[in-house]
Amino acid sequence: MDLVLKVDDLVGHPERSRVVTGTIPVRLRIADASVDGPLLLTGVVTGTVDGVQARFTVNAQADLVCVRCLTPWTETLEADGDRHFSRIPDEDGYAIVSGVVDLAGPARDELSLAVPLAPLCRPGCRGLCPICGTDLNEDPCDGHGDEPESPFTVLKDLFDPPRSGS
Ligand SMILES: [Zn+2]
Ligand SMILES: [Zn+2]
Repeated sequence: MDLVLKVDDLVGHPERSRVVTGTIPVRLRIADASVDGPLLLTGVVTGTVDGVQARFTVNAQADLVCVRCLTPWTETLEADGDRHFSRIPDEDGYAIVSGVVDLAGPARDELSLAVPLAPLCRPGCRGLCPICGTDLNEDPCDGHGDEPESPFTVLKDLFDPPRSGS
């Protein structure tokens, strides 16, 4: 399993291109998100005057955890890449070496950029009650009315001032 591709017959031939598919194992962890399994790449490599242009799509299953309610779930992440290779290494050090390119590094780079930094299990997830830990998506948890920090306590006092001197 690799993404090493022979391209020396494409260099200098913009009319030539080749379809590429392959998988590599990926293991990465970014915050609470992790990928541990195969990454699938499909793409096309086309010759250019001094190298090859690789346009590809990568996808892999990621294990995510909602930043608000801590619910775990699995999702397929997908990302597109478009990178030129020549015999001179680019800013990331990728190059055509001995007539081949290795798309594994660029594929992992694109996938890691697709990992959400603050995953949400659903739009507008209400998260967990900071006081009792109840999942507020399932239970509104309207207790804790006497907490002094609650903004609702302040509102309640405004509309219902405590009586005094009676
Ligand atoms: Zn959530
Ligand atoms: Zn609560």
